[in-house]
Amino acid sequence: LRASLASHGNEGYRVSHYDLELDYKIGPNRLSARAKITAVALKALSRFTLDLAGFKVGGVHVDGRAAKFSRSGDKLAVKPARPVTGKFVVEIRYSGNPRPIGGRWGDIGWDELTDGVLVASQPIGAPSWFPCNDHPADKASYRIAVTTSSAYAVLVTGSLVSRRAGASATTWVYEREEPTATYLMSVQIGRYEDLAMSESQRLAVSRRLVSAARYDFGRQPEMMALFSRLFGPYPFGEYVVVVTDDDLDDPVEAQGMAIFGRNHVDGKRTHQRLVAHELAHQWFGNSLTIAEWRHIWLNEGFATYAEWLWSEESGGPSVEDLAGLWRARLSSLPADLVIGDPGEANLFDERVYKRGALTLHALRARVGDSAFFALLRSWADSRRHGTVTTAEFIAHAESATGPSLGDLFTAWLDEPALPTFS
Ligand SMILES: [Zn+2]
Repeated sequence: LRASLASHGNEGYRVSHYDLELDYKIGPNRLSARAKITAVALKALSRFTLDLAGFKVGGVHVDGRAAKFSRSGDKLAVKPARPVTGKFVVEIRYSGNPRPIGGRWGDIGWDELTDGVLVASQPIGAPSWFPCNDHPADKASYRIAVTTSSAYAVLVTGSLVSRRAGASATTWVYEREEPTATYLMSVQIGRYEDLAMSESQRLAVSRRLVSAARYDFGRQPEMMALFSRLFGPYPFGEYVVVVTDDDLDDPVEAQGMAIFGRNHVDGKRTHQRLVAHELAHQWFGNSLTIAEWRHIWLNEGFATYAEWLWSEESGGPSVEDLAGLWRARLSSLPADLVIGDPGEANLFDERVYKRGALTLHALRARVGDSAFFALLRSWADSRRHGTVTTAEFIAHAESATGPSLGDLFTAWLDEPALPTFS
């Protein structure tokens, strides 16, 4: 059975809050957990499903009463004692050896490291560690308590509200108040040093990588200043960068967090553009979350454009040069992709990233710098902590600048042929 976007997410209800108690044994990779999910039924439901991959489910309660349940693939089907209407609370006990979800995006979700755990779930890895309504548009708040060996640091995407050390295990409790998509929730467990980079920026990194990482992420506070000026205030409290002590193919964003591999740190700032890219996702992807995966260019095109903005700001190649370079490179690749709806197989195709950024550059060329940056800021502000679609962005750009921009967006987003700047 192959994981697919369409099989995740469940109809009939919206989740408002996840309360997770996770008891994790690192050596045997054993998770014993309880999830308490507060949701609102959109109609009377005599049964409903959640996404959950693997695990043995020990029991399900709905509004305090035992409920019948069954498993099928990565679904947990629940039949409450009586139909739910309006607000309801479902409590699920589950345990087992968490494993990443395999498929076309590699292994995503809860992943054992050499000495710890990494969670990076984009796009559909969240059910590898908690039962959820795994759809990007169903954003919720979270409280997550993780109990594990006291020898390890635990970082969860949220604010640390308490840490209680027992004889051998420590319980870390985090809260995430801002509405957050399931794929952006993350748990990081490792032997990390916790370093302050600025008042609101922290770096979690293994001891032997401290000095290289301090240097490589040293300009991140300047990036934060640039993006705050261009896109509006940073949407969360803290920004935490975790550098795992394993290699990762690509860094990945989580809410108020980014996860890099040790291979992205060399003490030479080789991967500077990725530092900018992940930070920019806090605005585009995390605060403004796409309502469906087909709108992915609203995440990746914007984050790529932010790389170019940082390049110019920091004395590297200008946006104009990078746009010209990437348009030329794309013109040598097959024009068989529509980035406004790239399809599941091409969700993270490089052309979505680069052509997405070029779309913004074409918009900027059409409307002028001051209108362009004003509409980016008002976009980030008006949709803060919400969900977004391509049609909404086009309507926003048109209402902010006046003339119809349909021809521009159609050419860049809806047709495979690569347009020229005009
Ligand atoms: Zn990205």
